[in-house]
Amino acid sequence: MRRTNTFVVRPRSDQDAELLHELLDASASLWNELTYERRQNYFDGESIWDTADYRKQYVGVLGSATAQQLIRKNKSAWNSFFSLTEKGKHCSPPGYWGNEDDGRTLRTYIRNDQYTLELGDRSRLEIPVGKELKDKYDLGYTERLRLEVAGVPKWGGKQGRLELYYDESSNQFRAFQPVTVDDSRLDAPLASEEAALDIGANSLVACTTTTGQQYLYHGRDLFEKFRDTTREISRLQSKLREGRYSSNRIRQLYRGRRRRRDHAQNALVRDLLDRLYEEGVSTVYVGDLTDVLETHWSIRANAKTHNFWAFRAFIDRLACTAEEYGITVELRSEAWTTRTCPNCGSTTDTIRHQDTLTCSCGFEGHADLVASESFLRRHQNSESSGWRTRHTVSRQRHTGVPRPMARPVRFEWDSHEWLESPRSHRPKEARTDQSIHV
Ligand SMILES: [Zn+2]
Repeated sequence: MRRTNTFVVRPRSDQDAELLHELLDASASLWNELTYERRQNYFDGESIWDTADYRKQYVGVLGSATAQQLIRKNKSAWNSFFSLTEKGKHCSPPGYWGNEDDGRTLRTYIRNDQYTLELGDRSRLEIPVGKELKDKYDLGYTERLRLEVAGVPKWGGKQGRLELYYDESSNQFRAFQPVTVDDSRLDAPLASEEAALDIGANSLVACTTTTGQQYLYHGRDLFEKFRDTTREISRLQSKLREGRYSSNRIRQLYRGRRRRRDHAQNALVRDLLDRLYEEGVSTVYVGDLTDVLETHWSIRANAKTHNFWAFRAFIDRLACTAEEYGITVELRSEAWTTRTCPNCGSTTDTIRHQDTLTCSCGFEGHADLVASESFLRRHQNSESSGWRTRHTVSRQRHTGVPRPMARPVRFEWDSHEWLESPRSHRPKEARTDQSIHV
């Protein structure tokens, strides 16, 4: 069973920090050059696999194993893209890690047998670097770069490929370490459960699973920050001299805005998929954007979400990352589910006010969580049960989705990671009728 550790790594000196920067930047450069060549070939209708020898070009800086690892990662990104496209999914071809002018996304992948993670009072990580960097930074011929590890990684087990990246917003180097945990140490869930997501702006993602779990990722703070930056961009744009359309400062603001969003999205996708995997979820239903555009979203709400959240990019990321977990993402119509009362099934007696959905039957709940619950009930095993042709909503309650029993788990973004909000465990919740969730 796979789990992912995330932790912060710290260079022990400015020189080490510089070395690490250089290593990650060269990795991004390899990735971008290879991606550029493959995209050109792809759009020209030619084979994407015949490329220059990037291992040879980057072996000096990255070392052979890391250069090869990046090439392999790139190959598997293209393979995922082709396999999703074949299945009729909308997925963009692999993209760049930033660019040279605006700054590349600093990231690398280290093969599982090439790094050492030692845990203890002073946990540390050792990674290989190429000979050119060793010479430049006075590392011995057999020496590796040693980094301090902050905190204690949660999972032990057989280590997988390490992902290292520089998080600009927190000015920290961070690592993702997948590990394979011995099954006997866990109650292995049978992966046949399902989940549905409602994607929005105030709640970035509301999720309900067939195991009765609900997750809510709050987006308000992120959105406010996005809005402030957008206002500042407009202000600066209004001050530009005639004939000019941008400035360095404006480009910088756009870039920062995009990076914060990408970072939060990435982290959300990982956090959510870790949880769904643990619940034994094998299929995730997501509302189809085209449907969403046409039906129930107001133009304003949609523009807000679309800009901020980059819906399509999020779905791509979700689908591509889900494949790593063996979870399938299915796009489905979500019409009407935001208005359906999960208690009595009515779509006409409900009122949505801000985040709350109330029904004349007495039900009151968080509108986005309710939407994900109705969406799940509507699509769960829809092929096999064939109930999509039925319109009697009360029957939907018998398709096997229990009313969520557990309290919804809420998450807030602290600009590094999604933290469980203390609001998840309000004491009064214990007394709340389980059929009514707030
Ligand atoms: Zn009702």
